[in-house]
Amino acid sequence: MARVVSDPLASALVDIVGEAHVLVDADVRATYETDWLGKYHGTARCVVRPGTTLEVAAVVRACSQHGAAIVTQGGNTGLVGGSVPRGGEVVLTTSRLRRLDPVDAMAHQVTVGAGVTIEALQHQARLAHLDFAVDWGARATATVGGAVNTNAGGSRVVRFGTMRSQVMGLEMVLADGSVVSDLGGLPKETAGPRLSNLVVGSEGTLAVVTAARLRLVPWYRHTAAALVGCATLADAVALLPALRSLPSLDAVELLMPEALAVACAHLGITPPLAVGTAAAFVMIDCAAHHDPTDELAAVVADLAGVMALGPQRELLFRIRDHVTIAIGAIGTPLKLDVAVPVQRLPELDALVTSIAAELGARSIVFGHLAEGNVHINLLGVGTSDADVTERILAAVIDMGGTISAEHGIGVAKTAWLERLKGAPTIAALRAVKTALDPQGILNPGVLLPPT
Ligand SMILES: Cc1cc2nc3c(=O)[nH]c(=O)nc-3n(C[C@H](O)[C@H](O)[C@H](O)COP(=O)(O)OP(=O)(O)OC[C@H]3O[C@@H](n4cnc5c(N)ncnc54)[C@H](O)[C@@H]3O)c2cc1C
Repeated sequence: MARVVSDPLASALVDIVGEAHVLVDADVRATYETDWLGKYHGTARCVVRPGTTLEVAAVVRACSQHGAAIVTQGGNTGLVGGSVPRGGEVVLTTSRLRRLDPVDAMAHQVTVGAGVTIEALQHQARLAHLDFAVDWGARATATVGGAVNTNAGGSRVVRFGTMRSQVMGLEMVLADGSVVSDLGGLPKETAGPRLSNLVVGSEGTLAVVTAARLRLVPWYRHTAAALVGCATLADAVALLPALRSLPSLDAVELLMPEALAVACAHLGITPPLAVGTAAAFVMIDCAAHHDPTDELAAVVADLAGVMALGPQRELLFRIRDHVTIAIGAIGTPLKLDVAVPVQRLPELDALVTSIAAELGARSIVFGHLAEGNVHINLLGVGTSDADVTERILAAVIDMGGTISAEHGIGVAKTAWLERLKGAPTIAALRAVKTALDPQGILNPGVLLPPT
């Protein structure tokens, strides 16, 4: 028997996507209304699951006609509150946009739907003996559309750059319901600025991305990793010039002792190096078409560390991938994803340590060393959340860093964006937003500070 849908917008959406794909009941909406951290939540007017680009266009048009705001949601693994409703928006989930084209072996590119997970994309690439360059712990759930919209980074940025460097073009639906398609994948084109470039990192505020044309990279079958313990964080930073000279360098990850400890405790394993033996641990990964073991061993030979081959390398990656999960299992932290010029990391770490000591909070820091990108997690800051955020982000900006290296601004950091970018940049971004979305229906409250 057909459900009675009393909301005229929901009823219009049912006409577009079918009754099974418009979720109005509170219990079925619930998982779409809370973020991965369990920190951000709000009520959705309804959740809609379009299955094609044309359905997305019709959904956006209907929302526009009803003056209803849209929060586009991919895997909902974002950590800054941008993928869940604040109150009354329509959640448009991309879960059914799972187009997975065959790899274009001539161009080393592939076209996939926005709702395809990073893991499924990697699998598709590997069927053609290629690989997708961007990788991180949430790969099984995070989607291509989410990665595009947050300009996701992860562990291989040192070699291949962020998501921005992988995007050859996008298909997207604008706020008026028009479809813009830029999936040709031409590596050279100078016919004016590209809308696709602008949409990367726009956090669902400029368009609903429905598909992406992505660059693929070689799939390296030979790998070697090492975990190195350093007496100071400055010593860890000092490893970078030598590591960068390795042609097979694929990742340089930083684990401060507490991060190594919580991840290993969560996995129920003994840390590969005793936690108390170093002030900072560096996880180095090399990948190549030949065995890179000797190359890596030559650089780490004189350092306190362990080489990790085969299953031990997998174990190191499991540890690295589980830090965020392990922290989430302990509690909801104050989480700040920032980057500073890499030589200033020790200064930032000292500040975080002193703030944690002052508040009796637990600080767990890890990240991507080569980019000076650390994830600062503070557990037990009590009511000092806003004050601590202010102190750390202000210091990061003073150091010439950024308040978001890979997670985005979401709703968590809008108040600091103008200080980072300056008023003229914010005015220009606002003008772009107004031109593309005059009603302000795409993810309001995210990215740009309220006027
Ligand atoms: C355990 C864990 C580890 C993580 N590690 C990393 C890491 O190393 N590097 C990193 O970069 N991130 C990391 N993240 C954060 C997160 O996985 C990324 O931000 C990811 O890109 C989000 O993808 P998603 O599909 O889950 O997007 P969502 O969380 O659903 O959405 C994120 C933002 O993108 C927008 N959006 C999503 N899809 C679309 C679309 N099709 N069109 C328009 N807008 C859209 C949303 O509105 C929202 O603003 C981690 C998260 C977890 C939980």
